Amino acid sequence: MLGFVVWLSSCKVYTKHSLVNKRRLSSKGVKQNVCFWLGHYVDVPSPVFFSVWERRRVRKYCVTGKSSTYSQKEQEQYPHRRLKNYGGLGGKYDTRQYPAKSLCSHCGLCDTRFIHYVKDSCAFLNQHISELEYTVHGKSRDLEVENELYFGVHLNMIAARRKQPLPGAQWSGIVTSIATRLLETGKVQGIVCVRNDEQDRFQPKPVLATTPEEIYASRVNKPTLSPNLSVLDTVEASGFTRIGVIGVGCQVEALRSVQSKLGLEKLYVLGTPCVDNVTRKGLDKFLRTTSTSPDTVVHYEFMQDFRVHFKHDDKVVGGPGKQWTETVPFFGLKTNELKDIFAPSCLSCFDYVNSLADLVVGYMGAPFGWQWIVVRNEIGMEMLDLVSSQIETMPLSSSGNRLQAVQNSIPAYDKGMTLPMWIAQLLGVVIDKLGPKGLEYARFSIDSHFTRNYLYMKRNFPNILQRHVPEYARRIIEQYKLPKE
Ligand SMILES: Cc1cc2nc3c(=O)[nH]c(=O)nc-3n(C[C@H](O)[C@H](O)[C@H](O)COP(=O)(O)OP(=O)(O)OC[C@H]3O[C@@H](n4cnc5c(N)ncnc54)[C@H](O)[C@@H]3O)c2cc1C
Ligand code: SF4
Ligand code: SF4
Repeated sequence: MLGFVVWLSSCKVYTKHSLVNKRRLSSKGVKQNVCFWLGHYVDVPSPVFFSVWERRRVRKYCVTGKSSTYSQKEQEQYPHRRLKNYGGLGGKYDTRQYPAKSLCSHCGLCDTRFIHYVKDSCAFLNQHISELEYTVHGKSRDLEVENELYFGVHLNMIAARRKQPLPGAQWSGIVTSIATRLLETGKVQGIVCVRNDEQDRFQPKPVLATTPEEIYASRVNKPTLSPNLSVLDTVEASGFTRIGVIGVGCQVEALRSVQSKLGLEKLYVLGTPCVDNVTRKGLDKFLRTTSTSPDTVVHYEFMQDFRVHFKHDDKVVGGPGKQWTETVPFFGLKTNELKDIFAPSCLSCFDYVNSLADLVVGYMGAPFGWQWIVVRNEIGMEMLDLVSSQIETMPLSSSGNRLQAVQNSIPAYDKGMTLPMWIAQLLGVVIDKLGPKGLEYARFSIDSHFTRNYLYMKRNFPNILQRHVPEYARRIIEQYKLPKE
């Protein structure tokens, strides 16, 4: 009986999946589908039942009956519109059900009918950043120019901060301000951003915001994988032709790949750098391993002073509203315990600087307390101009030399070395004084993560190493001596 139910539910799921590949049921396509679902069963059988149940939940978010209203011509131009009632693969955060399997960063694309394009669009199935750079910015990065090699195509880079920081924002709130201005000036009709769940402040809840209040409510990082693109069906159903999207690198790569299928007149992409992201479970482990008061953390950031800064507020546990900051030096992190908290997608990611956004707002290339702005193209310039009266700016600087520090960090991370806290504190003070600063700090961070991620891929996904690591990342990694296996 149980076998029959398994078989029946697999048929349902298989039918749904083959719908996606309707036009590709060549013998290769059939083989791929069979492998896909076989892998699905081997990985985790229970979500087969889950997905049938889950589909009911997600159905309310998806476009129902709309596809029948699309003309044949429209369906030919936008083949995903043939899919009816698509409710996502239903895996929620169990990414093993998704086409990129354990490498899936849960960007949200596969929770929409745009899954039709997943093979070509997913950052982990088809890494094609340089090609997209050319399409989006009109050129690919020049690998001979150091700032382009590291930070991607750009017209300008500056340090900036809001004259009046937005309370509750991650830094000074430049992202929220730009998104709000885009809406207020009528340049867009909606903004794709991510709020937090009412029950769980760290659980992301992507939305298509149509009011400044909704954008304001989305401020601050949700430091977990977030399916921002899961609202693309809603975007399409809204009929909006001008939208803004806020997102991290893997989300933006998938978005850019399907941009021409969105039927938009104008798209503004406001990106943030992103690294070391975690699942919700991984976040709990990180907070419990690193902070002395994990339950009261409302915000944290890996800062340029080589320390993790946690902001606490005891209101979240019913306290009177006492707020304080806790700092933990990078060198004191329990690396051996934390190694498995990062999502495999993020240990395989080489788009730290969000190469395909029009404008990138981070912090790591700027002096402490400032935000780092990378204007990639004219659309990015247009967005930054919208907040010119709200921000103060200054030129970026660069000092120190990262090379030896990165080289030393490679075996230390590999062996999971953790220093006693007093040595870590002392080292933190010394490195803060003498270590790399400004753009050199940003290069330090990129180098450390690219070398670590390269080793991770080489050890865990050797078959796709060649096609997955972009040329710019290879050039950066080649500067270092990696451990021999
Ligand atoms: C997971 C993550 C890791 C980051 N790592 C770095 C880093 O290593 N170096 C660096 O320079 N900058 C990093 N950033 C960017 C930085 O922390 C700030 O988000 C950025 O500087 C904007 O600050 P703000 O005050 O202007 O943002 P806010 O005005 O507070 O707005 C934050 C915006 O981020 C969006 N957002 C929140 N969480 C997510 C998420 N999980 N996925 C997609 N979008 C989200 C929200 O929609 C919101 O609009 C990271 C961001 C994220 C989300
Ligand atoms: S990363 Fe995005 S596009 Fe790739 S499999 Fe996961 S949800 Fe789909
Ligand atoms: S680190 Fe890379 S893969 Fe992970 S969420 Fe950020 S952009 Fe996506």
